[in-house]
Amino acid sequence: MIHRVLSILAHPDDAEFLCAGTLIRLRQIGWEVHIATMTPGDCGSRELSGDEISRIRMEEARMAAAKIDGTYHCLDSRDLLVCYDAPHVRRTVELIRRVNPDIVVTHSPQDYMLDHEFTSMLARGACFGAPIPNFHTGASPAAVPTARIPHLYYCAPIEGIDIFGEPVPQSLVLDVSSVIESKADMLACHRTQRDWLRAQHGMDEYLDAMRRRAAQVGARRGMRYAESFRQHRGHAYPQEDLLGQLLGSDAG
Ligand SMILES: [Zn+2]
Repeated sequence: MIHRVLSILAHPDDAEFLCAGTLIRLRQIGWEVHIATMTPGDCGSRELSGDEISRIRMEEARMAAAKIDGTYHCLDSRDLLVCYDAPHVRRTVELIRRVNPDIVVTHSPQDYMLDHEFTSMLARGACFGAPIPNFHTGASPAAVPTARIPHLYYCAPIEGIDIFGEPVPQSLVLDVSSVIESKADMLACHRTQRDWLRAQHGMDEYLDAMRRRAAQVGARRGMRYAESFRQHRGHAYPQEDLLGQLLGSDAG
């Protein structure tokens, strides 16, 4: 039986920063990996038009996913316009039905920008809606409803803090020390963003920033590099910590 993980994040390169180490480790134990972004990253350039940079960034995201035999999906929203409306919900449900994942990974409900927070809501809502037969996505042909709600995990917010600067609690810390170079390889596929992030966020070095963050998350648990998550445990969602059972320090 094939198991699948689907990350639903806002922008190309979010997966590589927040959860690629975990996706790589799932791939290593035979899982199929799907990486989806809400937008093609159309605002991620100072020089190129939205259409031009979108084309390049979707190719970068495809190359990054291909490093772990993963499949890239773009839900065709636009930067700064991700919101919880009917078209976004329908497209996200359709994606979950097509991929039929055991685990969905998305952004923290509290994060540094609204594209991330709305993506989190969309993933949460679509996980709930995917098994409901009377919810129609309008796709043609439309995928069949899933048998159940997948396990849902939220990545840490960027820098681990909410908009007030307070740390956001995490329920699971996974060691990604053994795959940190593969995670960096995936991130390096996003070549256009190295320069862009330097200008926009003041990060000197794209890959070093990722390593610093993974080291910071790991340091609290005695791990060299780590990624952290918080599981959605609301009514009707699977309660057992599948990701922790598979990859946690007590796993195996
Ligand atoms: Zn983002």
